[in-house]
Amino acid sequence: MSIDNEQVTAFVERFAAAVEQHRRLLTRLDSAIGDADHGENMHRGMKAVVERLDGDTPAARLKVVAMALVSKVGGAAGPLYGTGFLRASKAVEGRDTLGAADLLAALDAAFDGIAQRGKSQRGQKTMLDALGPAVDALRAAVDDGADLDDALRAAAVAADEGKRGTVPVQAQRGRASYLGERSIGHQDPGATSTAILIACMTGDDALVATAAEDASEKAPEEGPGVDDA
Ligand code: ADP
Ligand code: MG
Repeated sequence: MSIDNEQVTAFVERFAAAVEQHRRLLTRLDSAIGDADHGENMHRGMKAVVERLDGDTPAARLKVVAMALVSKVGGAAGPLYGTGFLRASKAVEGRDTLGAADLLAALDAAFDGIAQRGKSQRGQKTMLDALGPAVDALRAAVDDGADLDDALRAAAVAADEGKRGTVPVQAQRGRASYLGERSIGHQDPGATSTAILIACMTGDDALVATAAEDASEKAPEEGPGVDDA
């Protein structure tokens, strides 16, 4: 099994729909440890993506995603997701269809691009805490010779675990880092949108629903965002 142009578009449209459906969750998470805009940011960006989505190859379509996100999503997430999609596009240039190894190359390149652009690494309570485990799981599945479907499911499960793992961590990058210890107990919004993104690659609604769960230990009402208001 491999992914062609139409399936790239179907994945991107699934992600746009999931972001729209879960934008309040993403914004609520960002209200606890950021500035309460992550859901609206991503929704605005993905709406623009879907309007412009076209291209002769998967690489061309991924590049359209990157450019639309950079131009429409402000703040940290726009340039970071934009860089991720641009690097993913470059990694699959010249391919008409994408197999598991191509998707691994794409996600691996996206991780490196985001880490470079964000001067960030895993363990700092960011989107990389969902993306990194997804890359690892995809790599392990590809090494085991798993088919694409199983490989993507493994990546989605790992991304979700990574997202949950951000809850007890103190943020070290982005706005949430300004809160110091008070960021502990809240799930990172960017790790949540990334877990949703990886789940959307599987096409399994149950995995998307799991990715959109909030495992925070503190309610946003108890969170610093509201105390400080
Ligand atoms: P902003 O913080 O500018 O309001 P968003 O709210 O849209 O942007 O996105 C916040 C998310 O961006 C965070 O939850 C985190 O996952 C991610 N993020 C912020 N800074 C970095 C960074 N330096 N590296 C990786 N991810 C980051
Ligand atoms: Mg924000």
